[in-house]
Amino acid sequence: MKTRDDFPQKTKRNVAMRAGWHCSLIGCGKSTAGPSEESSDSFTVIGEAAHICGAASGPGSRRYDSSMTSAERKSIDNAIWLCADHARMIDRDEVTYSADELRAMKRQHEESSGRDLRLGKVQGIGAGLLAIGPDIICTGDIPTIGETKWVLHLKHFVTGDIHELAGFISTFSGALLEHKYILSDELGDGRLLSQAPTLSKDRNGYLLSCPLAISARRVDVKNLGSDMAMQPDTNDIYLDSKGNIARVSGLDYLPQKVRSLLSMQRGENVFAPKAGVRFFEYLEAFKGTPWLPLLMKLDVIRQAAIPDKSSFRDSEDTPLRCVTRVRGFELLSETPVDQRLPVRVDFEVLGHGRWQHDLSVYMPTREQMNERARLLAERPSLALS
Ligand SMILES: [Zn+2]
Repeated sequence: MKTRDDFPQKTKRNVAMRAGWHCSLIGCGKSTAGPSEESSDSFTVIGEAAHICGAASGPGSRRYDSSMTSAERKSIDNAIWLCADHARMIDRDEVTYSADELRAMKRQHEESSGRDLRLGKVQGIGAGLLAIGPDIICTGDIPTIGETKWVLHLKHFVTGDIHELAGFISTFSGALLEHKYILSDELGDGRLLSQAPTLSKDRNGYLLSCPLAISARRVDVKNLGSDMAMQPDTNDIYLDSKGNIARVSGLDYLPQKVRSLLSMQRGENVFAPKAGVRFFEYLEAFKGTPWLPLLMKLDVIRQAAIPDKSSFRDSEDTPLRCVTRVRGFELLSETPVDQRLPVRVDFEVLGHGRWQHDLSVYMPTREQMNERARLLAERPSLALS
């Protein structure tokens, strides 16, 4: 019997996100995901990752190409995100909807999704991205912003789902303190939760009411401390005009501080495997999608707003210490050059005001990350946290 080359779950999710969860067929653009009316904990997806070239030979499989390998048939390049009606329609008509025609539609739709996202209008699904703990990221907005409570209006899940959110709520009291947070890309800020959030549903979707701990302490940039100065491209220390090892402090120290913080990837430091940013993970999973810079920005917000208890840094301060708000984060290229990624940060800095800076952050290779994971698996006692 011939097996079908179905798409893996991750490929389906990624092709949906690249399409902004809207049907890619020209002239349709229908939203394909939203809360279900059936019950308060269900979520409906009415879209499908359809095969451009059929998944299996035989009648009913359109545009089947016998010259393709099974891997090519299952790859994201062979998938197009469509609403249920149009997924059925292209399966009846391979004359109107040739493979080339579908590829062109997909390209055009992705380009317009990407453009809308950059301009801040995600085709009616709301521009804001919200993180609820480390595993759940949704689009949505914040209808209530108070000192002690934020109410989040959730629209679409980017990572995690409604069941994972229910799990986050029910296991909240036993969870690690550093996982009890929410982040908002629109506000450029985040807060620790003081209690488990509560979920309710109204006619517009899910509402998550989040009781907040007090805003994390930030320090004035003048009190940021000092360190040996390092050359930005080589990390070499150098001598000042008097022949002493050069040092930097306060605002002059900030670029170096931000660069080194954003250069430590989670999983890279075997002594603190949970510390660091998730750029590496996001780059692997979301490269080429409009979500990548937004997910990275949320992660920078976490560094600015949430005290880090997960590592040797254990303190009331946030890792970025003096940053009160992340106004912007841009990924200037998705491809590392000499293992460095160029980024642009736009921060509000306590004691200074708005601060923009271009930095290049270090990006390990997959082999280097595998090597760290292997070391840690062999010697778990290395980890201090
Ligand atoms: Zn459609």
